[in-house]
Order: sequence, then structure tokens, then C-alpha cells
Amino acid sequence: MRLFDSHSHVQDARFDEDREAVLARAAAAGVATIVVCGEDVASSEAAIALAGRTDSPRLLATAGFHPHEASQANDAALDRIEGLAAAGNVAAIGEIGLDFYRDLSPRHVQRRVFDAQLAIAARLGLPVSIHSRDAEEELAPPLARFAAESPLTAQGRPLGVLHAFGGTLEQARQYAGMGFLISLTCSAGYPRNDEARRVAAGLPLTSLLIETDSPALPPQSARGTRNEPANVKVTAEVVAEARGVSIEAIAEATTANAEALFGVNVAVEAGA
Ligand SMILES: [Zn+2]
Repeated sequence: MRLFDSHSHVQDARFDEDREAVLARAAAAGVATIVVCGEDVASSEAAIALAGRTDSPRLLATAGFHPHEASQANDAALDRIEGLAAAGNVAAIGEIGLDFYRDLSPRHVQRRVFDAQLAIAARLGLPVSIHSRDAEEELAPPLARFAAESPLTAQGRPLGVLHAFGGTLEQARQYAGMGFLISLTCSAGYPRNDEARRVAAGLPLTSLLIETDSPALPPQSARGTRNEPANVKVTAEVVAEARGVSIEAIAEATTANAEALFGVNVAVEAGA
């Protein structure tokens, strides 16, 4: 079984003590690829540095400003993100988006920085990794503009992923119809998260990804602890149970979807 953790922050300082052991546990759990997501310039550079390692699992980097950090994203910082991405070592621009739940940056700043980074992704022909919280409706106009501008649309490739999706099944269908994938975390297994399980059961399998968002959002059985990529298997189990299919079927489909999104084919490159 090959699993693909489509969103993590394993460059985070909380992994500094034992990062290689964490990655080895992921490999042992069948995780072939982990996406390491940037949240500002420093964490994007750290993600790119980690992606250079050649051991299993394979690590892919993204570069971008999280909406929480949008206030730090001046023109020079956005130019740096574009430079990192243009150098060819990032698989997506992210994580970018809107967070109207915590509002750690002013909303008008979040919107401006989100739009600027969607424009970078469109210029470079890269997909996007989107964070949204209490802003699922507000995403629609900027994502529609991105769909119109991105060369990925004409190539028939996925445009991006709505990570740790917290909206409704109807919203998920709307964005899937626009060409975006929908990613669920271990939190889809939390007792009160019925809507995430509706999304898991109701979307076409071709629109679903799985992730951990490590070190955040640990499985229900490990609430309050540091999450890690090996637990993407738990997300796969939750989705498999919601759909009434095998975990292997979920692993195979979500890995293929992630490879199409991030422009990689792990099977070919690993000689599998
Ligand atoms: Zn994240």
C-alpha cells in the first residue's frame, strides 16, 4: 500500500529532535510521499531544504504565506516566494488562503496577499494548496479568477487542493467542479465531525486527497499529542469506512490524485 500525505509541516521545530525517526515511521506505515508546506519565507526555505533529501519517503515542498502570516508578506517577501518557486524546487504555491476564524491578519490584507500568490501560481503554472477557515464562500471569486488564468486549466490538470477541508459537502462539490481537490485530515474521525464524513462519502473518489497537517490535528485516539505523517493511514481508514471500501482502494486513488496534482509519479521514479 502506498500512501501520500498531501499536507504536513515536518520542517516545524517540534520535529527537530527526532525528524528522521518520524520519517522512518512514515515509510514503515507505507507513506511514499509527504508534502512539506511553507507558511512564510523561512518555513518555505526549510521545506525546500528538506525536499532535497534522497531517502524514503520522498518529500515535496511548497512555498507561500499562510493567511495568519499575511501581515508579514510585503512586496520583497512575495518576490522571494516567487523566486523560490521559479527555481523549480516547489510542487505548489501554499499554503495560502483566508482564515476568518482566527483573523490573525486583517481581512483586507489576507485577501490582497492571497490574490498576489494566486497570481504567482498562475504565472508559473503551479497548483495551489489552500487554507480556509470560516471563509469557504469567500474563496469562490478568487479561485474562479485563478481557474481562468492558470495554464493548468487548459492542460486538464487539477488546479489545487483545499486542505483540511472544513466546509460542507455542497461547498466541496462546488470546488471539485471547478477543478480543485478536497483534502481531509485525521480530524474527519473526530466524533462531532459528521460533515467531514459526509464529504468523504459523497465526493467522487477522483476529487479526494488525504493528509495529516502534522504536527496539528492528531487522530482521535491521540488527541493533544503531536501528529505525524504515519497517521495519514488513519485518515485513509476514516475515508474508507465512510465510503464502505477498503483502505487499499483509498490509498491507491488518493495517491494517484495527489500525483496528478503535484506533477509527480512516484511509482515510475521509484521503479515500482
Ligand atoms: Zn498546514
